[in-house]
Amino acid sequence: MTTHDVEIAIIGAGFSGLGAAIKLSQEGVDDYVLLDRGQDFGGTWRDNVYPGAACDVPSHLYSYSFALNPEWSRSYSHQPEIHRYINAVADEHRIGEHALFGSDVRRAEWDETAGRWKLDYERDGESHTLTARTLIGGVGPLCEPNLPDIEGFGDYRGKIVHSARWDTDYDFTGKRVAVIGTGASAIQIVPQLGKVVGHMDVYQRTAPWIIPRNERPYLSVENWAFKNVPGLQAAIRGGIYSFNEVVAAGMTYAPKALKPVEALSRANIFRGIRDPELRKAVTPRFAVGCKRILKSNEWYPTLDQDNVELVTDGIDRITETGIVTADGTARDVDVIVVATGFHVTDSPVFDTIVGANGESLAQVWEREGMQAYKGSFVHGFPNLMLLIGPSTGLGHTSMVYMIESQLNYLVDYVRKTRAHGITRVDVRKDAQDRFNAGIQRTLRSSVWVNGGCASWYKDHNGDITVLWPGFTFNFRNQTRSFDLDAYDVRTADRPAVVAESVQTADEAPAEPIGTDA
Ligand code: NAP
Repeated sequence: MTTHDVEIAIIGAGFSGLGAAIKLSQEGVDDYVLLDRGQDFGGTWRDNVYPGAACDVPSHLYSYSFALNPEWSRSYSHQPEIHRYINAVADEHRIGEHALFGSDVRRAEWDETAGRWKLDYERDGESHTLTARTLIGGVGPLCEPNLPDIEGFGDYRGKIVHSARWDTDYDFTGKRVAVIGTGASAIQIVPQLGKVVGHMDVYQRTAPWIIPRNERPYLSVENWAFKNVPGLQAAIRGGIYSFNEVVAAGMTYAPKALKPVEALSRANIFRGIRDPELRKAVTPRFAVGCKRILKSNEWYPTLDQDNVELVTDGIDRITETGIVTADGTARDVDVIVVATGFHVTDSPVFDTIVGANGESLAQVWEREGMQAYKGSFVHGFPNLMLLIGPSTGLGHTSMVYMIESQLNYLVDYVRKTRAHGITRVDVRKDAQDRFNAGIQRTLRSSVWVNGGCASWYKDHNGDITVLWPGFTFNFRNQTRSFDLDAYDVRTADRPAVVAESVQTADEAPAEPIGTDA
């Protein structure tokens, strides 16, 4: 067992944790470590290696603004290329020197006396301890696989594979396969499996809206231009970003304006499926945008294949050999693929982070709902910054944009706490409450609230606590500077300092709380 102390500990080496590490290095902070239970950088893009895994945000936008990649091979990138990109960026910034891979953080607890976070983690089968002044949580919302709560699940004797824990050694050729789920992961897996399996049953609980995917390889002349024409990539990126913001406006303020998207989806169904009954079965019954809008050209034609059956009767139970639906039909299979998503609002990670009053994030959020101030700081959890925390999720554009907004906030946090000798910050409850009331107000008109669907954007109270409503540039504006006046702060020599007294004279007044309030 070892113990060591650092200024900052980052958990997670995906887009957000790596981005934080790069920004800290650029700020001259060298005393930090990055812990991840995996063996390299990439987070969700390292872990999701299922066949067909790809991003549905165009390549030019789905990258760091400070590390544009002129060499993307396709208009939408696939998992291996994104994974390679993330590791190349990490290498370029020499972040590997700070990484403790293979480290599974079991518990992080705020020690009020020491004014530090104490982390317990396992590495190479041994227990270790680490203390840090600041803890950055970059574990991402899509890291803990959700297994379906179906009777008999544990009784099944065949193979079970979750989309995010794919067994790349398993050969699906000629097998009888069941796929549970029709979300973003399933619609990429099923067309690939459909090419090799003997027979596949696809269990659909809720039909999703799926628009065509405008994916193509880039020509070498395009890659040349991305590299050599100044501003070209940034301009394309800006164009994609702006278009997506229009969609965000529709989702938040005027769901009826999304009718053209619905028409596009219906045309996709019509084009991909010949059988009228099957067309009907895959047509969603909720407003487009209420759940994530998916992109695929292959999903519907695959469902129309002879070796594929879409099963819409609810699953009653799983037996030792297969799946039985509510109508009593039993379908035996060799393997069950569970593409059933992630623990987002109920992640087990929340149990392991314990704040100043001895309560875990899970306990506080169970009582109060999943909330943070600007998606980043939670009252009662001093010096803890969450990346992609509550109310930062998106269904329409790049999460990397949100991450980079939070990285601006982190950089200014570092600058201000250093400049003023601040050792402890805790966001004020009233500031956090006002911020979240603003979010909920903005959500009232949104498709996520009014679209008639159940989604993983909602927490156990039925509140949308995952998503950022409205324009993402509002979030960028609100996270531009670390607004000390929203925090209770302490310095080393003075246990409690009124925030205003450490506010710099040239600082802009605090920005409005909430999104558009
Ligand atoms: P998901 O969107 O949560 O979809 C889970 C699917 O499993 C849904 O169809 C759900 O049905 C079904 N399901 C869950 N429990 C079930 C049960 N007990 N019985 C029957 N069906 C059940 O998960 P995901 O597809 O892994 O995607 C998660 C998120 O990852 C996406 O929203 C996206 O943000 C991200 N992602 C992105 C990409 C991309 O960029 N292309 C690809 C993959 C994932 P209901 O709809 O009825 O709940």
